[in-house]
Amino acid sequence: MGTAEEAIIRYHTVCASIAKAAASVGRPADAVTLVAVSKTHGEEAILPVIEAGQRVFGENKVQESQGKWPSLKARFPDIELRLIGPLQSNKTADAVALFDVIESVDREKIAREIAKEMTKQGRAPRLYVQVNTGEEPQKAGILPTEAVAFVERCRTEHGLTIEGLMCIPPAEENPGPHFALLRKLADEASVEKLSMGMSGDFETAVEMGATSVRVGSAIFGARDYGAEPAQ
Ligand SMILES: *Cc1c(COP(=O)(O)O)cnc(C)c1O
Repeated sequence: MGTAEEAIIRYHTVCASIAKAAASVGRPADAVTLVAVSKTHGEEAILPVIEAGQRVFGENKVQESQGKWPSLKARFPDIELRLIGPLQSNKTADAVALFDVIESVDREKIAREIAKEMTKQGRAPRLYVQVNTGEEPQKAGILPTEAVAFVERCRTEHGLTIEGLMCIPPAEENPGPHFALLRKLADEASVEKLSMGMSGDFETAVEMGATSVRVGSAIFGARDYGAEPAQ
């Protein structure tokens, strides 16, 4: 798992790689937000990265996040917490209450529940629509052919502002075509932000226009989990 010192070194290396990839295509480094994916890691692993200056974090499970983030957010009020994993409708209220950004809006029912909770709680997390660019049956996300119409329905029927699109390309494939597809769909849907790129491919994503990259193991080291599904 590695020590705090190693995590800090890796964190700075990732920041430098993002800046370099951005510069290689003439983008400023601050055009890309690093989302540090801290799933499976406890406060002792997260705190050193916060203290090194990182403020945007991603988690894939609502319940796990409720265990560790409320106290960290209270101590560091400028932290931005993003939900990057699939959202079940019975967890929507909790997700709207805790997260600043929800990147996994992917179906009508969730859009409706989020809209309802936003009104009820008077909170407005920023929203991304997740697109299943590889059309993988086991993976969450709206199909590419339905994405533009879905974004439009989020706006017109649910009154939601969709800030961006998010994708997780198939593990075995070259991610480039998936990043290009996400960018094209974002253009068609008039959506500004692109959440794409993980530890293995974030430089490529930055070169292809990612406005945020979600990087876990390249910062925190390998995750130690038993039976976590690959998602
Ligand atoms: C876990 C996860 C990541 C980070 O994966 P790494 O390969 O460790 O960088 C990014 N996005 C999502 C949706 C994840 O669940």
